[in-house]
Amino acid sequence: MVPEKPGVRNSSPLGDLPDGGKRLLELAVSACANAVIITDAAQPDSPAVYANPAAEHITGYPLEEILGRNPRFLQGPYSDLEEVAELRRAVAEGREFYGVVRNRRKDGSDFFNEMYVAPVRDGDGAVTHFVGIQNDVTERRALEEEMEHRASHDPLTGLPNRAMFVERLGQAVARKARSGRHVSALFMDLDNFKDVNDSLGHEAGNQLLVAVAKRLRGCLRNEDTLARFAGDEFVVLVEDEAGGSVAAQLAERLLECLDTPFSLAGERVFVSASVGVAPHGPSDPDRGEALLGRADAAMYEAKRLGKARYATYDPAIQARRRSRLRMVNDLRAALEREEFVLQYQPKVDLKTGAVDHVEALARWHQPRRGLLLPAEFIPLAEETGLIVPLGRWVLEEACAQVRCWQDLHPRTQPVVANVNLSAKQFRQPDLAAEVAEVLEKTGLDPACLELEITESVLMEDAPATGAVLEKLKALDIKVAVDDFGTGYSSLSYLKRFPVDTLKIDRSFVSGLGTDLEDEVLVSGVLGLAHALGLRVVAEGVETEQQVASLKKIGCDLAQGYYFFRPLSNVAATPVLAKGMLP
Ligand code: C2E
Ligand code: MG
Ligand code: MG
Repeated sequence: MVPEKPGVRNSSPLGDLPDGGKRLLELAVSACANAVIITDAAQPDSPAVYANPAAEHITGYPLEEILGRNPRFLQGPYSDLEEVAELRRAVAEGREFYGVVRNRRKDGSDFFNEMYVAPVRDGDGAVTHFVGIQNDVTERRALEEEMEHRASHDPLTGLPNRAMFVERLGQAVARKARSGRHVSALFMDLDNFKDVNDSLGHEAGNQLLVAVAKRLRGCLRNEDTLARFAGDEFVVLVEDEAGGSVAAQLAERLLECLDTPFSLAGERVFVSASVGVAPHGPSDPDRGEALLGRADAAMYEAKRLGKARYATYDPAIQARRRSRLRMVNDLRAALEREEFVLQYQPKVDLKTGAVDHVEALARWHQPRRGLLLPAEFIPLAEETGLIVPLGRWVLEEACAQVRCWQDLHPRTQPVVANVNLSAKQFRQPDLAAEVAEVLEKTGLDPACLELEITESVLMEDAPATGAVLEKLKALDIKVAVDDFGTGYSSLSYLKRFPVDTLKIDRSFVSGLGTDLEDEVLVSGVLGLAHALGLRVVAEGVETEQQVASLKKIGCDLAQGYYFFRPLSNVAATPVLAKGMLP
């Protein structure tokens, strides 16, 4: 672009000076920081007839080497660039030129020359000379390039960033109809990056990302784009004739190249990743915007299937995610809409036939799908954290209900409420305070509340578990170990925790009376539990045989369909009022 011409030319005040201002002009041009070179258009090949000191300084050529030659020698090996061609055309046609041209200094180094070249005309308008004003803008150029690079690259690994990936994806998709090539995106997320960061520190985490980037790059072809999005997310763009199968092979190769451990902070670190593959064929109608989303969804599928693997996108994945999202939204609203209810399953004292414990079991009246059992919503509630408010509601509802039964039907042995606690609830720092608050609010005697915590949750983080249990026990409530036998704990281990009750999982109870091994096992557990002062409840008791067997080996309580299914509060009322088996 040619800058606008300065306005008035003829009314120069220089004319008033003694020599017509010639001396002043010469001194001024010489003092200029910009290079000024004047060429003579009347001579063959327009040699330079004037150059100021800045021209020597910028180009590194002494005056004698500039004068007498056409300044195009400064173009060095770059004389075929489009900008240079335009400069030549402008000069040939007697026009002005403005542009940035790559030039070479005398010492062989390159610089970016911002040039303004203008024809000088005599009184008749004929071009007699050209004046070129030049400026070394190499630093500015470098800065611009640096900024451009920063805007499009990840500073840690030097890989392209999301913005650049999206741009290249757009180009690949635009090319694809012509080239007949498939475009695939591979979305990779490391499986255990957080552990590395937490255990070895942030600095080691960064080193790992750099090392992973290098390794991944090493097993890709030059033309494949590898980008880092955020954290431990790497994304690959592949163009290929064969489409999906190549992408899947590549996913396998990427996973394999992580098999060798990394060496970090003097430790060997094993890394695995989950990869989602999304192919986009030449005839797919959309412009590829959705491709990343599909690769991301496939990556989550790979995680869901157990990590350290790849999954290829198929529409069912998206459908499943959508229905999950809907379920999460429904679940969120369900608490406010009061769609949850509790059922109560009584436990029976095997020696006396007394019924003085009930376990509260959550149910969801989902308007479209009907009554849902915990297996259909508790895991999702746990994953999304909604279990915390839901669990709070269950606790309050169960305590209030049991308190109500106690008031309506006073008995010598008051009813005890059993309430299930999920892992996430158990890890809430203010759990004990919350339980205390609920007891206070509902007026239930702490001795009439027993919290059920699964064996696997108890075993997860032993030191912290002990502290939480101590806090709960300080409230005077009871604690039961649920689903005992499904985890990996030993009874002697449990001794360290202040628990009151052991609930033997249904899978062991089911074989009683038919499977001798189960019988030996349950009776062994029972003996040890009693020795530790624990009460034992058998879960899932369904047959008379099982009852007989449990009685024989001296089990304390039983819970199961044989006695009662989970009951609505209305149906449970007469059972608890009586407090005895019919
Ligand atoms: P759980 O605590 O072990 O509860 C016992 C489960 O066994 C209940 O299933 C109960 O209906 C079922 N059951 C009882 N007797 C029998 C029987 O004789 N045969 C068979 N086949 N099953 C029997 P439900 O109600 O589906 O609950 C499943 C699990 O969901 C519970 O296992 C508990 O871990 C969880 N859960 C239920 N309500 C809540 C809650 O409010 N909060 C939390 N965090 N978890 C809950
Ligand atoms: Mg339970
Ligand atoms: Mg259980």
